[in-house]
Amino acid sequence: MLSKTNYHTHSTYCDGKSTLREMVEFAVAHGFTALGFSGHSPLPFENTYSITDYEGYCREVRALKEEFAGRIEISLGLEIDYVPGMLEDFAPLIEQGGLEYTIGSVHLIPEEGITPRSADDLWMIDGSRYQTYDEGLMRHYHGDIRRGVRAYFHNENAMLERNRPTIVGHPDKIVMHNRDRYFHEDEKWYRDLALETIHLIKELGLICEINTRGIYKGRHADYYPGKWLIEEMKLLRIPVLVSTDAHMAEDLLKTEGAYEYLREISYPVVLDSWR
Ligand SMILES: [Zn+2]
Ligand SMILES: [Zn+2]
Repeated sequence: MLSKTNYHTHSTYCDGKSTLREMVEFAVAHGFTALGFSGHSPLPFENTYSITDYEGYCREVRALKEEFAGRIEISLGLEIDYVPGMLEDFAPLIEQGGLEYTIGSVHLIPEEGITPRSADDLWMIDGSRYQTYDEGLMRHYHGDIRRGVRAYFHNENAMLERNRPTIVGHPDKIVMHNRDRYFHEDEKWYRDLALETIHLIKELGLICEINTRGIYKGRHADYYPGKWLIEEMKLLRIPVLVSTDAHMAEDLLKTEGAYEYLREISYPVVLDSWR
């Protein structure tokens, strides 16, 4: 029997709507045995979603960990953005914050052939608006979806190899704003790229999350990674952790049938902790 846990959790320190304390209290009230915080890592340029007060974030998570000891196991983590030329090495953030675990994610892709110097040089593939994705694809990749997607997976692989995060964050997030417009996931070139990443996760011995946020936000009909990839991961016996990528307390409950689905397909290694 798995315990109720969540390790992909944001708060008002980044782009979340609930405070750290509201998250913890909600989790305790709903029988969670563990809660891990993974705010968006600070970035070296102006943006709307990442942590600015990193010290304050780490200090408050640690204080809550102590205050709630014995009631819920709180851990201090960070969802770290891999950005070539800007944030390639996770070690300084891990050391500075005394992090217990990391989620490695790619949300920003540099324009082909350049070292990014500011947000203007980056293609933002996440966020709430698909127009941002479309505009970025046009601006940075001349609308060439294959080159853009290849760059995404290239960055994802480089991030995994260099930093070996505790948990792999939404490895196929690039499909979200695609909305089946530019390509379909069953096209061979796309499958080959996604599968290469899955095999790398296996080779490096990492845990992959099953992220439910796309479904409950109505932005995507599937988990990240999608079911066809989970089927491949099952053959490789890659350990998985269900995560809601919660941005407010109520999100913590939105597992969207992931546990039931994993049971149905007899997924062999479902974890309730990264430890
Ligand atoms: Zn993310
Ligand atoms: Zn997140």
